[in-house]
Amino acid sequence: MQEIPIVLIGHKDHGKSTFIGRLLLDTKSIKESRVKEVKEVDKSDGRKFELAHLLDSFKEERDREMTMDTTRAFLKGKERNYQLIDVPGHGELIANMLTGAAGAEVALLLVDIKEGIREQTRQHLEVAHLLGIEQLGVVINKMDKVGYKKEAFDKIKEKLKAALNDIGYLSEKIHFFPVSAWKGDNVFKKSENMNWYQGPTVMEFLEKEVKESKSLESSPLLFNCQDNYDGLLIGKVESGVLKVGQGVIVLPQNKQGVVEAIKDSEADFKEARAGQNVGIRVVGKNLESVSLSRGTAVVAYQSPLKVDQVLVGEIFWLEKPSQKKLILECGTAKTAGFLQEVGLVRQGKKSSYKVLLEKPTVFDPTGNTIFGKIVLKDKGKIIGVGNVL
Ligand code: GDP
Repeated sequence: MQEIPIVLIGHKDHGKSTFIGRLLLDTKSIKESRVKEVKEVDKSDGRKFELAHLLDSFKEERDREMTMDTTRAFLKGKERNYQLIDVPGHGELIANMLTGAAGAEVALLLVDIKEGIREQTRQHLEVAHLLGIEQLGVVINKMDKVGYKKEAFDKIKEKLKAALNDIGYLSEKIHFFPVSAWKGDNVFKKSENMNWYQGPTVMEFLEKEVKESKSLESSPLLFNCQDNYDGLLIGKVESGVLKVGQGVIVLPQNKQGVVEAIKDSEADFKEARAGQNVGIRVVGKNLESVSLSRGTAVVAYQSPLKVDQVLVGEIFWLEKPSQKKLILECGTAKTAGFLQEVGLVRQGKKSSYKVLLEKPTVFDPTGNTIFGKIVLKDKGKIIGVGNVL
């Protein structure tokens, strides 16, 4: 069964954890007994029961219940399942979105109706847009706090539409949901408090409107090398299918070769599919496989991936760079480089960039694979996340 990754974004305290707790509860993705347990703990600690505590309890006791790990909660749908990715809300942790949201094609933005658009609301949207997340749902939360009034919803919706258009989203195509995550209105159950809203609940939106991600297997071949043992390349088939005997191109060296063997520690295989971690041996006339390393990509003859020493794109600045010399990470490659040109660099904003690298690196101008995203590091610290155009 397909599992669709969905990243939750939004300013701190606007209700992300509560919303996930509500969805898990209403879809019965967690056991009733579990909820009772958490309620009892809250009671004995003398604190109010919070749906967000359900999530915390899973984080603490991952081994007992495999419903979620530190950042992903697993949600059961009718036809398909979902992974809800909870990204930390703090501005300085936005970099986690790169790893957290890398696989996500759908984002749900939580906005507190009383607080409206805050700094992190805008920043998360900017990053989601840079990372190519096109499918977006805007959850206007805490409607119970404004008496479930349509006027309050319409007002904030207009402001959000303007902000979305500004960032580059087509606000006309985006769904807005009036929700109370705490009470459960329009999350899974249709609200009886907002008859003025005729649209789908958030769950209906996920089930009916969200498009399934492209099949990674039918995408062009990409093997991403993470290590090399005596010429055996260890890594992951990110997309496509790799077969013994297949002719391939090794990047960034741009050399032709043939796949001689595919194996793991226990067996040899004839082929490996998207998602599989394997070791592969590639042989070729001009190919010195022992010299290949992390950052090497093995692709089919016709691949959208490119190799260059100059990269340009857009970048979201977590911090201003302190110097021109930086480390650029793209896919599994880490390459030193110099910032050539940047637009106006402001913390918490995006700008264009141009980097001259010390050696050629592999990148994906389509943005469909992990080679389409970059991280810039300054003295070991992530200062920017962006794309490559
Ligand atoms: P997060 O930081 O975005 O994960 O936010 P939380 O889920 O931790 O919620 C922050 C606070 O808002 C908590 O005290 C929640 O109980 C409260 N909250 C969340 N959703 C609602 C809602 O729909 N209505 C009301 N009244 N409070 C809510």
